[in-house]
Amino acid sequence: APPVRDFTGTAPADVLREVYGYDAFRGDQAAIIDQVTGGGDAVVLMPTGGGKSVCYQVPALVRPGTGLVVSPLIALMHDQVDALVANGVRAAYLNSTQDAAERRRVEQAYVSGGLDLLYVAPERLNTDSARRLLGQGRLSVIAIDEAHCVSQWGHDFRPDYLGLGDLAERFPDVPRIALTATATPATHREISERLQLPTARHFVSSFDRPNIQYRIEAKSDPRRQLTAFIRSQPEGAAGIVYALSRKSVEQTAEYLSAQGIDALPYHAGLPAETRAANQSRFLREDGVVMVATIAFGMGIDKPDVRFVAHIDLPKSVEGYYQETGRAGRDGQPAVAWMAYGLGDVVQQRRMIDQSPGDRTYKMRLGQHLDAMLALCETVGCRRQNLLGYFGEASTPCGNCDTCIEAPDTWDGLVPAQKLLSTIVRLQRERNQAFGAGHLIDILRGASTDRIRQQGHDALSTYGLGADLSDQDWRSVIRQLLARGILVARGEYGTLALGESATGVLRGETPVPLRRDTIGRTSAPRVRRA
Ligand code: ADP
Ligand code: ZN
Repeated sequence: APPVRDFTGTAPADVLREVYGYDAFRGDQAAIIDQVTGGGDAVVLMPTGGGKSVCYQVPALVRPGTGLVVSPLIALMHDQVDALVANGVRAAYLNSTQDAAERRRVEQAYVSGGLDLLYVAPERLNTDSARRLLGQGRLSVIAIDEAHCVSQWGHDFRPDYLGLGDLAERFPDVPRIALTATATPATHREISERLQLPTARHFVSSFDRPNIQYRIEAKSDPRRQLTAFIRSQPEGAAGIVYALSRKSVEQTAEYLSAQGIDALPYHAGLPAETRAANQSRFLREDGVVMVATIAFGMGIDKPDVRFVAHIDLPKSVEGYYQETGRAGRDGQPAVAWMAYGLGDVVQQRRMIDQSPGDRTYKMRLGQHLDAMLALCETVGCRRQNLLGYFGEASTPCGNCDTCIEAPDTWDGLVPAQKLLSTIVRLQRERNQAFGAGHLIDILRGASTDRIRQQGHDALSTYGLGADLSDQDWRSVIRQLLARGILVARGEYGTLALGESATGVLRGETPVPLRRDTIGRTSAPRVRRA
């Protein structure tokens, strides 16, 4: 390691050059560092890859004392401390992976003023002994990373974050900085309130990632669609394919390999050596496609990931944004591709219903899913919808599937009414509820055992929807779900009327529907200049 240097009182720009080797600050970095170095608080919203670390590390180096960094991701903590130490910075961490002797060494270094940066996991920080320890040294800055974890409405809530608010009272003279890459306006407010940052300056960067092209298509034959998408990418492009379950990860990786694509699986259930080997190939070689669960990618520093593909629907727009954000961190063109279908919606509703947690909790998960569906089914610009979700206004982007090729729409009012009245009849006359499959059978006039046994061929809507194919009906149902005209319930995804159904039944709410985009896999790869 290089000689340890003391940067107290050094100009931030010099620290940036000497420690990190960068010539200039990016975006809001200089202003944020000024604010915190001057003793003020800051709330920083910056997308992944924006350069948040420098925003608290530089003030910690420049101000006398030790910068405390609260970080929930142990792997990330280790990486950052290693990188800092390699650059001559006196950095260390305290977490559950250490033995008592190691911890004591770090604690003593802190108390004796021998540390510039100390990383601590939130659960450790909430102990009495940790609080006592902090009082024995001198803090320069308190940085709270992944600050959205304090939000009970967010997708990443960590109860330990709630305990961080009182650091304000314990250390009133120490400037604090809260940072996150994912925050809706509501989460943003919660961060200020719960972390007690009422007078903090807020730095909100744009969340737009203009080099990422967003593409979402309807699922028909997901593996074939995925293969076609990957083949449409430039030779040697590295990518990540996200799947929800371990099984799906393994099967997809096997399938792609059999198609001649250099695909590797990655999930927490694989032996550590396999994971390490696969990760290292992904990082070092060209053209490796990592098929992974969503845990993969946090803290993976590979700037030239050319595509991120989702073969299962993410649970929230925040999650989608974070995962797709791992593509194109080098600023070069990249693609975020996804295929989703009605099955995804039903499966996720079921997972929500079966999840432990009270009604409010489930309702919140339902809202996250609804927002994700609205993004999938939008007739407008994907990016506009995505940025709008984060409270950012924008104009159509020209670099998403719907901008490149305006989706075909058709008038879905009559089919929607047929479906809704079938549901209403079954409910009112027979106190019955069914999932998509059986309702489609009724509408298409199918002659199944179940239809005959239930006498559903006697319903007045029986066969009224024979003009649409099974596939068409699934698309109608998916889109009605996305708009809250329908809701899916329970283990079997039985369909019921949603809040917006009344207007449709009365014929007052227009129902323009997208034609399914199946077969659009080879969509033109036009990119914004
Ligand atoms: P975040 O935490 O916001 O995802 P990081 O702090 O990990 O982002 O920074 C992302 C990448 O950008 C890192 O490789 C980092 O070294 C680099 N970086 C940060 N600031 C600058 C800068 N001013 N100039 C050039 N590169 C920078
Ligand atoms: Zn667009």
